[in-house]
Amino acid sequence: MISKVLIANRGEIACRIIKACKKYNLKSVAIYSEPDKDAKHKQLADESYSIGGNSAAESYLDINKVINAALETGANAVHPGYGFLSENPEFNRKVREAGLIFIGPNPESMKILGSKTASRELMIKNNIPVVPGFKSNSDDLNEYISVAKSIGYPILIKAADGGGGKGMRVVHNEEMLAESINAARRESLSAFGSEEIFLEKYIKSPRHIEFQVAGDKHGNYIHLFERECSIQRRHQKIIEETPSVALDSELRATMGKTAVEVVKAAGYDNIGTVEFLLDDDKNFYFLEVNARLQVEHPITEETTGVDLVKLQFDIANGMKLPYNQEDLKQSKHSIECRIYAEDSENNFMPSPGKITFYNEPNIVGARFDSGIISGSLVPIYYDPILSKLIVTDENREKAIEKMLEVLKNYPVLGVVNTIEFLIECLNHPEFKAGNTKTDFIEKNNIKVSKNPEFINLALATASYFEKSQTKNVEQLENIGSWEICSAKY
Ligand code: ADP
Ligand code: ADP
Ligand code: MG
Repeated sequence: MISKVLIANRGEIACRIIKACKKYNLKSVAIYSEPDKDAKHKQLADESYSIGGNSAAESYLDINKVINAALETGANAVHPGYGFLSENPEFNRKVREAGLIFIGPNPESMKILGSKTASRELMIKNNIPVVPGFKSNSDDLNEYISVAKSIGYPILIKAADGGGGKGMRVVHNEEMLAESINAARRESLSAFGSEEIFLEKYIKSPRHIEFQVAGDKHGNYIHLFERECSIQRRHQKIIEETPSVALDSELRATMGKTAVEVVKAAGYDNIGTVEFLLDDDKNFYFLEVNARLQVEHPITEETTGVDLVKLQFDIANGMKLPYNQEDLKQSKHSIECRIYAEDSENNFMPSPGKITFYNEPNIVGARFDSGIISGSLVPIYYDPILSKLIVTDENREKAIEKMLEVLKNYPVLGVVNTIEFLIECLNHPEFKAGNTKTDFIEKNNIKVSKNPEFINLALATASYFEKSQTKNVEQLENIGSWEICSAKY
């Protein structure tokens, strides 16, 4: 049975997992790199262990260091979070070989699902719809050229081992294909250690719809409904919501059933996410499985009442799923905004630095999953996610309004971040109308408008917090935002 968990991660997700450990009376061990020596996750955990190093490769990606930290601190389980080693089957296997419980699926299913090409092949065998595509083991470019012609342009070249929106290239015509394939192979080799690539038809303006699934070690499977994650920059999500306006109950049931078939086919045994693209004609296509806890898992938790990290612990302990499909219901509407230290006006370049001031306003229905406190460093070495704001309300309209209110009163100072950009997205009539497709940002040319009203409000709120140094939430709640504004200006 899991009793002491080493969290092989950092930032907001490490904090999320440590909180679950506390809630369920498990001991927690944080590991930290050199730049993370004062990080929030280190401070939150019961114990912490220095693994040294700066870059991810020297720290959170070093399998031996991580396993050694678990053994040295007497942890009996490892939670990998997302990113880093979370989908590395070799790490998974080695954790088990060291006599530790890996909180995630078995390494065989992780291996097959971790590869976009191997999982595609498995899906084709199991009659799951995939995006029309092609993979060849030969170096013969002519083969790709003729297949691309039959699929039709535009074509998407993808790295088989890619992730996090990286390793994708759109090709609009035959002239560019050979050159793009060669460049994609080189990029994939340097980013993911493999030059395996494949082609997919580029679906025009789809929605990204994914299903949360879970399987236990006894062959039981369920899904916990969908998340719509179509608002993306660089093929990576920044706003997610559930339920999706694009699904009716029939399509939801069909896609959910298909998602369960996907993980069943792989003999999967923990929680995971099955990603699909949905086109305008409501055709859906399998994209990939994320064999881990997903960044946007909180919106599922908020609308189903299921603690997904607890479910991971229970499954890893060998327990049967505590729910049948019929037991699960979704209520209310939940939205997540990812707040990154990125400059939306400069191609979303990371903006590392020091958080000079940070505060989470206390508003009913708002959940903050954050990895920072005032004074935190945002290192250049890792993914620049700062926090996730999750807002839940009776319906979509109310959830959007509440999200806007919280974002406007959420001071994150010191680094350029995406809060203003998120406000622009949520305020846009097309977002409000539910016209959320993966090209939303591009098509609507979303830009930070430098709305003076908003900027004053956020800055004034922040400086009020900073000046008053108050942690008295009641006092702050009693002061309306505009009053805070006028108190300052
Ligand atoms: P999700 O699908 O859970 O929203 P993302 O695609 O946004 O996940 O990625 C989650 C995290 O994992 C990010 O930090 C991303 O940079 C990282 N990540 C995911 N897959 C890979 C990969 N193959 N290589 C490098 N980083 C990855
Ligand atoms: P990653 O592992 O980086 O998450 P995915 O295959 O899940 O890669 O794709 C990430 C995003 O890229 C999707 O959510 C979608 O916006 C876009 N995308 C992927 N494949 C296609 C496709 N065939 N056509 C159009 N867009 C796609
Ligand atoms: Mg994906």
